[in-house]
Amino acid sequence: MMKILLGGDGVKILIVEDETVLRKALAKGFQKHGYTIDVAEDGEQALDMYFDNQYNLVVLDLNLPKIDGLEVLTEIRKENKEIPVLILSARSEVSDKIMGLDMGANDYLAKPFHFDELEARARALLRRNFKTADTIISNGDIQLDTALKKVLCNDTEISLTKKEYGIFEYLMLNKGRVIGINELIESIWEDADMFSNSIKVHINSMRKKLPDGIIKNAKGQGYYVE
Ligand code: CA
Repeated sequence: MMKILLGGDGVKILIVEDETVLRKALAKGFQKHGYTIDVAEDGEQALDMYFDNQYNLVVLDLNLPKIDGLEVLTEIRKENKEIPVLILSARSEVSDKIMGLDMGANDYLAKPFHFDELEARARALLRRNFKTADTIISNGDIQLDTALKKVLCNDTEISLTKKEYGIFEYLMLNKGRVIGINELIESIWEDADMFSNSIKVHINSMRKKLPDGIIKNAKGQGYYVE
């Protein structure tokens, strides 16, 4: 069974950050979204906590006292290749970013950043992580492959734009549930203020490409797939 995580319900995050003000702000921000938070203020503490607890995500600063962030990452990856690690760093140079991703980080955010962006990326990583168990979702003649990000109809690929795919994947993952416009906007990371109308445009465009009637309209509430 797939488990789709939308809020922070039951999700435990380890935040590793040595700057006290930022560490507290991050913990508070994630807690507000319902996540359970542990914090570590240096690399040594981070590894102690990591190996003593079960986390769904690690948010990891690079410049850390005692043990450097990249070394923390290496130790985590030796033990667990699956857990999402999001690097947070003032080292914005491309080489650091590439090194972090090469060493097994799943995402990288340079300081300064907006908390909303961090939270959105954390959520995307958590979602991706919980999807891996089953990558093909079927509905009638339609097959959606969440690993390859492809939609097939009777074995012929249907070409969707990235955002159309994102919306369709979200609807398919939540089969049977009516999804409101705001939730769809979140699912493809659009700016709600700028694009509150564009979901309709995406849906109309997708309906022309997909089999008739697959995306249903719940009047005034949103869209769903049966
Ligand atoms: Ca630091």
